[in-house]
Amino acid sequence: MNGNMMNHPLLISDLIEHAAKYYPTSEIVSQRLEGDIHRYTYKDANRRSKQLANALTHSSINQGDRIGTLAWNGYRHYEIYYAASGMGAITHTINPRLFPEQLVYIINHAEDRMLFVDLTFIPLLETIQTQIPSVETIVIMADSDHMPATSLTEGPCSVICYETFIADASETYDWPQLDDETAAAICYTSGTTGNPKGVVYSHRSTLLHAFASAIPEALSISSRSTLLPVVPMFHVCAWGTPYSATLSGAKLVFPGAALDGESLATLIEAEQPTLLLGVPTIWLGLLQYLKEHSIRLNSVENIVIGGSAAPRSMIQSFDEDHDAFVMHAWGMTEMSPIGTIGAYTREMGNISKEERYSLQQKQGRPVFGVQLKIINDDGEIQPNDGIAFGRLMVKGPWIIERYFNAESTALENGWFDTGDVATLDSQGYMKIVDRNKDVIKSGGEWISSIDLENAAVGHPAVQEACVIGIQHPKWDERPLLLVIKQQGQSVSKDDIIDHLSSKVAKWWLPNDVVFVDELPHTATGKLLKVNLRDQFGDHYINLQNSSPS
Ligand code: ADP
Repeated sequence: MNGNMMNHPLLISDLIEHAAKYYPTSEIVSQRLEGDIHRYTYKDANRRSKQLANALTHSSINQGDRIGTLAWNGYRHYEIYYAASGMGAITHTINPRLFPEQLVYIINHAEDRMLFVDLTFIPLLETIQTQIPSVETIVIMADSDHMPATSLTEGPCSVICYETFIADASETYDWPQLDDETAAAICYTSGTTGNPKGVVYSHRSTLLHAFASAIPEALSISSRSTLLPVVPMFHVCAWGTPYSATLSGAKLVFPGAALDGESLATLIEAEQPTLLLGVPTIWLGLLQYLKEHSIRLNSVENIVIGGSAAPRSMIQSFDEDHDAFVMHAWGMTEMSPIGTIGAYTREMGNISKEERYSLQQKQGRPVFGVQLKIINDDGEIQPNDGIAFGRLMVKGPWIIERYFNAESTALENGWFDTGDVATLDSQGYMKIVDRNKDVIKSGGEWISSIDLENAAVGHPAVQEACVIGIQHPKWDERPLLLVIKQQGQSVSKDDIIDHLSSKVAKWWLPNDVVFVDELPHTATGKLLKVNLRDQFGDHYINLQNSSPS
């Protein structure tokens, strides 16, 4: 027997309608590229999203058409999220940090009909405008006073100013009652190997992800929260916060392009966010600035750190210097992205700080809806003892089934292989050991490059650390540690090895440390280890050849 309840679709447009009606005065604050702060309410955002939906309809945008964005976090970007998806078109957020040829690839692959572009990215778009034939219209996200002189106007697309585009459009628009399996947004993976692949979220998956991520055991978002998503809206929809914040009527603060420590500190002081979200490199910059200027964060209760592993020193610094709790989270583009979160639990109140930091270093427990398992290469499930590790497999209603336009499923017996190697403990905490391709195989044993990096950045003279496994004449692979020193600090290889000796097993210690001025990152802020392995791959072989026999 079936239940007798309504089969009402879960639609993105209902989020903004709800916020506009019940939290009409909750604010959306944006640091604009024009330099000033823009603030308005959910009610205003809904009104302008409807204008935009009407303007898109007049431009003959149909349901299913892809609308690309090349934009920072800001109110206009937010309006596109709601207008395009709400009317049944598909919001395609494009990561402008990708290489131009990857941008061309994904715009063509998605067949974007329209592109919305922030002022910052106009020079980038100018370089590729003749290579993206599907794009008919480019909308520059500015008002008419800030329209730049651009060669885009001489290209094949029509170019229009955002505010002009929506100015005459009606504020009345009835959001269509779509089937909630309808595609709502598309994000491409960053494609460090091979071409980027499209992940298409549905209205249903987006709403379920929003419900699950807003609850107290997850991001704990209420109408009293103020969110500062530093994670970009061009990267897995800013971890879904434009939806989860709207669902709860929370205040949203968008930082625009100003992501350095000083700009973030100023914005935090002005807008008093309670919840920050971003990748570790962003917080390195902020913490450094706060330390140099003896500033303490007062409003911040929680910081969600994901995308790469949060080092212990960062977790400790937020706790001890700012009384702010780090919620370590893990996920991926293919997971909308949230998979696990380390929320503050009752047990955490009863253990020592040191024990709590160790727990926080793990990537948390699955949010309701996500299932995890670890398996070995033969597909056998590994024990949840916090020691055995294996390929991390996931399942859930906001996890990919197949890539955009792919003919075959992305699943293995109904599970998605994340490409990560992890442990699971008896309480369900997951710890990422490494990306499958980054784990270091030394003499038949495995070494976690992430654990070594985290231990290295705990040294006060280390600004950033990267560990790669490279060929070794005796052990197949051995770790090599690459270090960027903190400005003005001096430190030797032996100091660093000494520091690591108390943190990791002796056989894990890197055979060498190389000091570098910079480390390459992917478009999503992760260390680009492929390039480093190319550059330093022969380091131990060369050392051996050059050492006196
Ligand atoms: P995102 O950058 O939002 O996490 P991507 O799809 O670009 O999404 O990358 C996903 C990968 O990032 C994961 O498979 C994992 O390897 C890594 N990752 C994400 N969060 C963490 C974390 N907290 N600790 C370690 N690695 C992480």
